[in-house]
Amino acid sequence: MPEIKVTPLGAGQDVGRSCILVSIAGKNVMLDCGMHMGYNDDRRFPDFSYITQNGRLTDFLDCVIISHFHLDHCGALPYFSEMVGYDGPIYMTHPTKAICPILLEDYRKITVDKKGETNFFTSQMIKDCMKKVVAVHLHQTIQVDDELEIKAYYAGHVLGAAMFQIKVGSESVVYTGDYNMTPDRHLGAAWIDKCRPDLLISESTYATTIRDSKRCRERDFLKKVHESVERGGKVLIPVFALGRVVFATPGMLHAGQSLQIFRKWAGNEKNMVIMPGYCVQGTVGHKILSGQRKLEMEGRQILEVKMQVEYMSFSAHADAKGIMQLIRQAEPRSVLLVHGEAKKMEFLKQKIEQEFHVNCYMPANGETTTLFTSPNIPVDISLGLLKRESAIGLVPDSKKPKLMHGTLIMKDNSFRLVSPEQALKELGLGEHQLRFTCRVHIQDPRKEHEMVLRVYNHLKGVLKDYSVQHLPDGSIMVESILIQATAQSEDQGTKVLLVSWTYQDEELGSYLTSLLKKGLPQTTA
Ligand SMILES: [Zn+2]
Repeated sequence: MPEIKVTPLGAGQDVGRSCILVSIAGKNVMLDCGMHMGYNDDRRFPDFSYITQNGRLTDFLDCVIISHFHLDHCGALPYFSEMVGYDGPIYMTHPTKAICPILLEDYRKITVDKKGETNFFTSQMIKDCMKKVVAVHLHQTIQVDDELEIKAYYAGHVLGAAMFQIKVGSESVVYTGDYNMTPDRHLGAAWIDKCRPDLLISESTYATTIRDSKRCRERDFLKKVHESVERGGKVLIPVFALGRVVFATPGMLHAGQSLQIFRKWAGNEKNMVIMPGYCVQGTVGHKILSGQRKLEMEGRQILEVKMQVEYMSFSAHADAKGIMQLIRQAEPRSVLLVHGEAKKMEFLKQKIEQEFHVNCYMPANGETTTLFTSPNIPVDISLGLLKRESAIGLVPDSKKPKLMHGTLIMKDNSFRLVSPEQALKELGLGEHQLRFTCRVHIQDPRKEHEMVLRVYNHLKGVLKDYSVQHLPDGSIMVESILIQATAQSEDQGTKVLLVSWTYQDEELGSYLTSLLKKGLPQTTA
């Protein structure tokens, strides 16, 4: 049976380091190649050794697709292509291709120039990596090879962000990347057509959140800023790098400018930090949002946080309502959640299964989900058979599946459904009929023909809606079921009846047998 396999190398029950391996109809595609903001060691990149233990990565992977320029979706790309050694095609939209190298260079500078790490990708490697990138337009169908095709859809979220449809024959998967179903002040809402994929792989960062209106959020936001400024304080808003509002970055206070300012301002209770979105575990942002007020900084220094900490979601991710909305739009046969926390995913998974009656999966990193698909196989059918089988209407309706009976002929790589008579004629075969026969013992001391007459009268009386005939050769026919008396058994008082039927009349044949086994009514002779 055809199957689709999905293994997250990153972002499985976690946010950050997005990297999902998909096998569909013999093709292998890697979705995103991100870094993890919460780690500075080996765990920051996906574990690519999962992909293949023997052989070259390029031979195994048919292509890599990058959904958008955020580093948790593309931060490991130069490492993967220039250091691990992937040499095949990489697809992303034009804006992503333009912005991606800028962010990668920024990331490299912080890691190598500022933190002094070695064994990291170089500026030249970023350039060489980008040479392998094929830029795509939205809604453009890209033929990766003869069988594998991909197509990008608008995802909102940030400039250039795209959802990707991956298709081989009649099997397909849609990967959302990060997306937003409500338009904000500079980007529109994500959109996809009713493409009914076998699987929708969706992010689920805000799986349990339902956001209030944007207007209320903006009003509350301004109120908080005014409060702090009136007290004589300063307000820090760490934000997500490119393509959003411009304050200090990065958004999760894990490095760079926003972290420096935070360290300077944290000691003054008049100041305020407003966290505008989700923070990954391990980042300073996540620590202060979960109430930690004493932070260990580099060099074992303890930073006491006296400033006010506020959270207001101005995130560009879909909330629970948005995720449900996308599922309604695409009508997938199953859903798989990535890029979220296990607990929140569990809640959304139940909601999805209840509302849409489809399976929902949430594999952890390194865990493979296998789902079986039922591919469409085109079959030619003769007009005669179609007429015979369609009592209701001649025009087939894809929304109302209909059962057809016939003989399937496989010839020259194509399938045809024909009537059994036609199949026999084409294949030059004779027709055989298979009959099932049952023996029924009847207690009756009278002569055989008298006993048969009694059986005939009994059946005629009981089976009023059926045709019951007594034939000249002494047998009885009920519809197509044949009942014959046979040679007497050793016991003079017992007669044997043979009841026989064809495969099609199984139900009536068994019914008659059980009826006769109950015996004949007593008659006054
Ligand atoms: Zn993103």
